[in-house]
Amino acid sequence: MFIVLLGPPGVGKGTQCRRMAAELRVPHISTGDMLRQAIESDTPLGREVAELIALGRLVPDSVVLDIVAERLELPDCHDGCLFDGFPRTLAQAEGLDRLLARQYRPLDLAIELRGDDEALMQRMLRRAKLENRADDTPTTIRERMRIYHRQTEPLVAYYARNYLLRTVDAMGTPDEVFDRISVVLRQQRTSAAYSI
Ligand code: AMP
Repeated sequence: MFIVLLGPPGVGKGTQCRRMAAELRVPHISTGDMLRQAIESDTPLGREVAELIALGRLVPDSVVLDIVAERLELPDCHDGCLFDGFPRTLAQAEGLDRLLARQYRPLDLAIELRGDDEALMQRMLRRAKLENRADDTPTTIRERMRIYHRQTEPLVAYYARNYLLRTVDAMGTPDEVFDRISVVLRQQRTSAAYSI
């Protein structure tokens, strides 16, 4: 299954994706992790994106689409993968549709994790202290939240139009949220089995 996970910063996409990837046995593709790795390794890509990431801004669509296209070519993605933090703009969502269509694979599902902005900001500020992420300062957290609502949230309507969207309440413990996601995955598997 090819699944997109949408949701504001701090909502727990990474945590849930790791669990879902283990359960579904598909790779977890986090563009944020890939970009951070490029920065850590001081590659030309890393040098290009470091400042934007530190400011909480989005990296250009073409850059992100290139790294996703390259990743999707690897054989472990043959049967599916989970996209975490991608797509983040309409252009990226359309780009993903094109990439998958080229491989004759449709997107199966877009799961929106919905949370309360204020609670998420508090959660991220706590995480900032633990993980020491350069883009987890109060200013960049606010900027990332603003950008999510302006540029990424419209994707909820995009996927709803394509009948791919399922919304999950992401306020609760990681176990509770994972249980809710598991229900959605089970329903998806059942409906896929009926449509064969
Ligand atoms: P994340 O770990 O997903 O929160 O991503 C951290 C940062 O990487 C974001 O704030 C952006 O600066 C950048 N980034 C990650 N994924 C994308 C994407 N799909 N499009 C643009 N920028 C991205």
